[in-house]
Amino acid sequence: MVQHNIYKSVDSFMEMVVTKNPGEREFHQAVLEVVESLWDFLQENPRYIHAKVMERIVEPERVILFRVPWRDDRGEIQVNKGFRVEFNSAIGPYKGGLRFHPSVNLGILKFLGFEQVFKNSLTTLPMGGGKGGSDFDPKGKSDNEVMSFCQSFMTELSRHIGPNTDVPAGDIGVGGREIGFMYGQYKRLQNEFTGVLTGKGINWGGSLIRPEATGYGCVYFAEEMLKTRDESFKGKTVAISGSGNVAQYATEKVLQLGGKVVTLSDSNGTIYDPAGIDREKLQFVMDLKNVKRGRIKEYTVKYKGEYWEGVRPWKAVCQVALPCATQNEINQAEAKMLVDNGCICVSEGANMPSEPEAIDVFLKGKILYGPGKAANAGGVAVSGLEMSQNSMRMSWSREEVDQKLHGIMINIHETCVKYGKEGNFINYVKGANIGGFIKVADAMLDQGVV
Ligand code: NDP
Repeated sequence: MVQHNIYKSVDSFMEMVVTKNPGEREFHQAVLEVVESLWDFLQENPRYIHAKVMERIVEPERVILFRVPWRDDRGEIQVNKGFRVEFNSAIGPYKGGLRFHPSVNLGILKFLGFEQVFKNSLTTLPMGGGKGGSDFDPKGKSDNEVMSFCQSFMTELSRHIGPNTDVPAGDIGVGGREIGFMYGQYKRLQNEFTGVLTGKGINWGGSLIRPEATGYGCVYFAEEMLKTRDESFKGKTVAISGSGNVAQYATEKVLQLGGKVVTLSDSNGTIYDPAGIDREKLQFVMDLKNVKRGRIKEYTVKYKGEYWEGVRPWKAVCQVALPCATQNEINQAEAKMLVDNGCICVSEGANMPSEPEAIDVFLKGKILYGPGKAANAGGVAVSGLEMSQNSMRMSWSREEVDQKLHGIMINIHETCVKYGKEGNFINYVKGANIGGFIKVADAMLDQGVV
């Protein structure tokens, strides 16, 4: 049979993606990174090309868009947009977080859902990929307003999800409080106590270590990368961005492994503490961010250190950098600054925090660079373990879950090495993309034209 419409180059494939998905900049960026990594592999394995796996894998199976009306504390009606992108279910139910942030739009959720497909596959657990959220901004809202919003959001979402269909979790702006409000509403609507969300409270179906999992996992992954050069965290200076869930637990794990964390940040600026953020100071940050919901600047009112208004952490001298805030938070100039200042390892707690030009700097500089889809897979991995515990109606101890998480991160590292080795250098981008792709693509081939 003669094959038509076979793309001859990365550029022509991307032209199709851009034309079909206009204006979705972050989605184009995420697809380009994957297609570039996979291109040679695909030419060597033409069965994927003939079955149009790439054309299919970049198209979400389903996108749900909905209105979220709710009432604020003054009694006024507010309206937000709600989204769920059900990207790929070849290897399991859709799985991926919900993000509540004013910047949320379809392109951002498609980039996150697309990344999630490969990430979930890398964990070796049976989870497909999805992502969702809203342009709702929880910042500055009362608990009552957040609850009103979450209940309205779940009223629509509940029709589309289920423990065997689609299992959302948290992401930026969605922590334990929001998951609780949404779970409560799901239960009222469906009359079912079931594992439909992960990141639940420990008394009502949650897993130990889930709050810690992404941050811990990102540090475990960095530790594995460092080992390949006979290095460790001991005595290393570490720059971390963000001060939310992922940043907090990455800091905790770095401290446990003997490193010194000198920065944290939020969307307003960075705190730099050359003496190091110790356990007591971290506890202050956790209270500030999770309970008082204040700004990171307040750290320098209580402790010594500098506050850099409107500046990201990357000018701090460090040997390890852990971006744990958001997408595109390291540009080319910042990447150069990191490498020039002696940074040897970047492990991404956030999704796609490095711009493509920054990734080029890391790869050309031959430093250890762990992309988010591998390095931050610990969160979804423990979400997968939460689903297993829910299905079995039992719970594992802290040590058991942490051990499983650690084992999964070591396995993901091994997969990246297997597919990413280029002579003496390990290209973790290529390793993660090929390693994540094969299982999903083979499942798609097995399941026919779906
Ligand atoms: P949180 O909402 O708990 O924290 C987000 C942090 O990033 C806050 O400090 C926030 O500052 C900062 N931030 C958010 N948006 C921006 C922005 N546009 N510019 C600068 N700083 C910003 O979210 P998480 O810690 O859960 O998520 C952080 C990253 O990790 C995201 O990329 C997420 O997708 C990724 N991730 C999270 C997982 C999880 O399990 N939670 C799993 C895998 C990846 P501010 O308070 O000012 O908004």
